[in-house]
Amino acid sequence: MRIIHDLDEITETARGWLAGGPVGFIPTMGDLHAGHASLIQAAREECEYTIVSIFVNPLQFGNDVGIVRAPHDIARDLQFLDAQQVDVVFLPRAEEMYPANFSTRVMFSGPLAERLEGGFQPEYVLGYATVITKLFQLIRPDVAYFGRKNAQQVALIRQVVRDLNIDVKVRVLPIARDADGLALGSATTILSAAERQAANLLYQALLAAKALLERGERRLALIEQAMIDVTAAAPLLKLDYATACDPVTFAPPGDTLPEILTDLLLLIAARMNGLRLTDNILLRDGHWQM
Ligand code: AMP
Repeated sequence: MRIIHDLDEITETARGWLAGGPVGFIPTMGDLHAGHASLIQAAREECEYTIVSIFVNPLQFGNDVGIVRAPHDIARDLQFLDAQQVDVVFLPRAEEMYPANFSTRVMFSGPLAERLEGGFQPEYVLGYATVITKLFQLIRPDVAYFGRKNAQQVALIRQVVRDLNIDVKVRVLPIARDADGLALGSATTILSAAERQAANLLYQALLAAKALLERGERRLALIEQAMIDVTAAAPLLKLDYATACDPVTFAPPGDTLPEILTDLLLLIAARMNGLRLTDNILLRDGHWQM
């Protein structure tokens, strides 16, 4: 496994592979877990070469870096990636990604930029759209792999790729969960027992909303309230939002959902002791994807 820090070197390496077969790319922020491993696995099966990047993008967090509580153990991440038989790990340096004269941003508008994650972390959308465009430009992967865990991020990437005509196939994989349903995340590996129990209520809340929808409830306020009620059992959890939206545009569904549901995203986000937790379930073509 090669470790590359240098921007020119990653571009040169990826271009050198052009004739050898498809390149799969998995952007991450480190603190790797089984969710990341599922993306790597898919890339290894479908592509000739696999590149994983680890970069905590300063542009994306604004003043909110505090939500990343865990100290990043890069040695552990590298061991993890070596065991997954990744070809290259790309660890760009922030000062090279954003030199002093850096001044271009990928701007965004509409519900995808302004609602939910866009509302709670305004820096996030602009920063993420910009960094992912830079990474795509540097590596020019054939396929890029993402988890549906970050549903808004996925919608954003699809929009950027479409709007800027970026030549990459976007593959989205299901959410890796623990046996009790908790969506794996960097935060979930460092939870205390009490935090772990509270965190699991996010998934339970989504299931409660799903059950209501299946019983024919269509009033958005009642579906949201069902999720709020479930999470209220853990005062540790500070809910950012619990709602439903269009899975592509992230537009709100209106006060009353249509009688016949085809596509709908139920999503929830909360803070707990300086950590941020998110989860979602997706109704796609009338079938639930957990
Ligand atoms: P992050 O390191 O948090 O930026 O995540 C990197 C990628 O891993 C993103 O595409 C995430 O959606 C994906 N990911 C994170 N957690 C999970 C999970 N539990 N299941 C599947 N993919 C995940």
